[in-house]
Amino acid sequence: MGFKSNRDYPAHLSPQVAEVYDQYETDAKAEHLKLILNQSTFVLFGNYAAGLTVLIGSWHAADQGILIAWFVLVVGFNTLRALAGRRFVPDQIEPPEIDRWERRLLGSTLLSGVLWGSAGYLLYLPGELDHNFFLAVPIIAMSAAAVTSYSYHQIAYPLFFVPAVTPLILSLIQEPSASAKAIGLVTPLYFLMMYLLSRRIYRAAHAAVLSGFANQHFANHDYLTGIANRRAFQEALEREWARALRTGKPISLVIADIDDFKQCNDTYGHSIGDKVLKAIAMMILHRARKGIDMPARIGGEEFAVILPETNLADACRIAEDIRTRAHAIQSDDRTEMPGATLSLGVASLVPDAEGSASILFNRSDQALYRAKLEGKDRFVADRAGETPY
Ligand code: GH3
Ligand code: MG
Ligand code: MG
Repeated sequence: MGFKSNRDYPAHLSPQVAEVYDQYETDAKAEHLKLILNQSTFVLFGNYAAGLTVLIGSWHAADQGILIAWFVLVVGFNTLRALAGRRFVPDQIEPPEIDRWERRLLGSTLLSGVLWGSAGYLLYLPGELDHNFFLAVPIIAMSAAAVTSYSYHQIAYPLFFVPAVTPLILSLIQEPSASAKAIGLVTPLYFLMMYLLSRRIYRAAHAAVLSGFANQHFANHDYLTGIANRRAFQEALEREWARALRTGKPISLVIADIDDFKQCNDTYGHSIGDKVLKAIAMMILHRARKGIDMPARIGGEEFAVILPETNLADACRIAEDIRTRAHAIQSDDRTEMPGATLSLGVASLVPDAEGSASILFNRSDQALYRAKLEGKDRFVADRAGETPY
């Protein structure tokens, strides 16, 4: 997982960022699909314009029945496709639905390519070079222009241009005329270059989308441990305080500080210290009740857990459990690591309109301070919370 990911990430990515990138792959895919589907109106008008060029250009030479049928198909298919694409709203859909949209996009892209290829097949008139060149222009132009929208997906672009230009190229190569042969032979090289270009566009777009997600992510998450950071903690505390004020239920806060961590760094080195921090963060994350509690790293070696709808007695039980689990932490890569002890402060309040979240924070912090004074590796509960402030 994480750094071992086989995805195409830049080599300089740190494991933390690579892991976040992995996490956002599905969102990135949705973003790419959105970029393509949002352009469907431009693609639609491109198809109308190029289709009309074929219609007018081939009117006197080609079979008009086939020509009209082909034009109606191109216009109808692309109009339906553009209308369908508008229903894609990535914020509201689940991953399997995103995969379905991807399959729809790829399927309809291939079909659109086949439709253009069929023009190069059905409307081609062997030996009539003027007509055939006139036919070639909109087909090649469409296939070249498609690079701008289909490059937001790894394989959408070749899925379009390969069926679109192949029949035309094969016919041109078979012409006795040297210039027709030359065009037939050079065009594949041109599209090979377009394909290589589209891969570069895809990679650049993918990296940009993922780094956007990573920036958003690290606005709320701690870089080292991956859990919520101080900013996210502060927001959550205010939010939970306001909610507890509405519901009249108690809210508790545990603040934990690693004991003698400076000494741990001095003895074992900073990188071992970092591993201890990560292991403590993971332990607290696993101990927290999923979807209810909010664990966060709020300082260098300081962590906090917001416990909504939790009274002091339950909060103390959780704090004590976190304290004992700290003795048995292990690093995620199984390397040697010293144990750690934690001092914890616990406070609980039923909010009233005069109070604020910072009162709860200060009380937990003072309780933590007492835990340090009383000898560390222990929790201290704030007693003031039992009386009105
Ligand atoms: P106490 O028991 O009183 O809490 O003592 P302490 O040594 O834990 O506290 P102090 O505040 O003196 O030192 C905190 C140490 O935490 C110092 C700092 O180098 C270390 N620290 C803070 N952030 C990081 C980090 O991201 N990585 C590592 N390895 N160490 C860190
Ligand atoms: Mg500290
Ligand atoms: Mg400390």
